[in-house]
Formats: sequence, structure tokens, C-alpha cells
Amino acid sequence: MAIFGKKYFKVELERLERKDDETLWMKCKACGELVFKKRVRENNNICPKCGEYFFLTAPERIELLVDPGSFEDISRPIVAADPLQFIDEDGKPYSEKVKKAQEETGLANEIIIGRARIGGYPVILAVMDFRFIGGSMGSVMGEQICQAIQYAVQERAALVLISATGGARMQEGILSLMQMAKTSAARKRLEDAKLPFISIMTYPTTAGVEASIASLGDITLAEKGALIGFTGRRVIKQTIRQELPEDFQTDRFAFEHGIVDNVVKREQLRDELIKILRLFAPLLAHSSAVAGEAHQREAIV
Ligand SMILES: [Zn+2]
Repeated sequence: MAIFGKKYFKVELERLERKDDETLWMKCKACGELVFKKRVRENNNICPKCGEYFFLTAPERIELLVDPGSFEDISRPIVAADPLQFIDEDGKPYSEKVKKAQEETGLANEIIIGRARIGGYPVILAVMDFRFIGGSMGSVMGEQICQAIQYAVQERAALVLISATGGARMQEGILSLMQMAKTSAARKRLEDAKLPFISIMTYPTTAGVEASIASLGDITLAEKGALIGFTGRRVIKQTIRQELPEDFQTDRFAFEHGIVDNVVKREQLRDELIKILRLFAPLLAHSSAVAGEAHQREAIV
């Protein structure tokens, strides 16, 4: 049974800029103000008027975090196959859905794996893109995460996983659920190699991914405004027949209940990562000298 197809796309960050989007202004849903799009982009996709966070794609997230020019896409050349010949509720085959998501996003699949430097420290990044079938974890995402772990071990880099996902990909049935165990088992290789795994949960990080690899970070951060949980609020309420706290499944709730170690504002994520990576510097390849240089460069700039 073929689990992976053969098509392949290489991610180039510039290519994914929305060149077809010619409108200069946008209306903020939170405050209703008209804001200049360029200003929003320069402001980490945060509303300059009220501070509301707008959605970020995986390439945008990568750009926000890595040292300029340091990112290299190392995703495996695989795309999801359709071993179950799954037909969705709307009558469309799963394979067509994948193709449509590829056309709309310009990505091969829902996760980008790459080698980069953050503050000069070597990292392997694994970044999910919610636009691609809800960032759901199927056999491809599972394999890419395992690949990222392998690269991190080979190159003595930190693994940074950024989740934006609705959970397991139901169209792949048991194959998608298997990825929870597969990625969790692979994660042990980082522990054996004494390498740090930093997991960042964003809006939303839920279900099968939250219940596996995203919760297994040595350090787990929530981006401010993140939704973190397993099952939806309504389902839990109906099942246990009890009222749920107002802030249930919010970033603050996750922090107060020990699910995440810190809640970090988007504009501070890069600095926070550098701070954490500095703690692990002796375990990472060539990090101290290079990192020192990078900090000096930053100071001069
Ligand atoms: Zn606003």
C-alpha cells in the first residue's frame, strides 16, 4: 500500500508572498478600524490599532523567527496519497482536497521542515500551516516531523515545532492516528541525544497533535491568544454535563494548569527562543561562537 505520493514542491519564502493581493487597506475584525496592510505585515501581523493578532501562514511564521537568509527547506519530497480512497462529506475525494490545498497555499503539504539559525543557534524548524486542510496531521506530517528529529540529532540542532492544527487527519483514518505514536516515539531520540525540543502552541493546537508531539516539549510555549485543548468545548460540556470555566482551553488556562511553561506575545517569540536556546548552547553544534557573533551583529544593528 503506497502511503506517500511522489509530487514535490520546494518552499521559497519570496515566492509565497501574495503578489496578487493589490488592496492596500484592510478592516480589523476586532476594532473595526481600517488599517494599512503594509503596517500590519511590518507589525508581525498584529493590528497596529488594537493589538489583535491576525492569522500567520507557515512561511510568514518562519520569516518572523529565523535569522535573515538562514532558512533552508529540507522537507522530504512526499505528499499524501489516498490509501483509503476517502470521499468527504461534500462528495469530494480526499486526493482532490489535497490538490486544491496545494494550489491555494503553494505548499506541498501542511508542514514545512527547515534548517535555520535563530540568534545564531542551529535549529531544525517544523512549522504547520493551518490553511492546508486545517493543518491536520496525516502520514506526511508524521513522517516530516520524524525527519526533522533525525536532522536535529545528526546536526546537533534544537528542534522547534510550531503547531497550528485541528488534530489528526480523519481522511487517513487509522494511519493518521498512528502518527501520534510514531512522532512521540521518535521524540525520544532527542532525549537520548540530549538535545532540546521546544514546542510552540498557537491558535489552534488541538486534538491528536495536542495529545501527542506538541505536548512533549522540554519547554512548551503558548503564543498569546492560543487555543489549546483536546476536544471541543461543546462536546466536553455535553459529555460531562458540567459547566466549564469561562477561560477553558485558553493560553492562560493552559499556563495555570501546567500544560505550557509560558505564554509569549508574538512580537517577543523570537527573543524568547533566543533566550531559551542560549541555555542549551553547550549541547548544540558550534553554537556559542556563532551565536556570539550574531549577538554582536544584532547589537551593532
Ligand atoms: Zn484592530
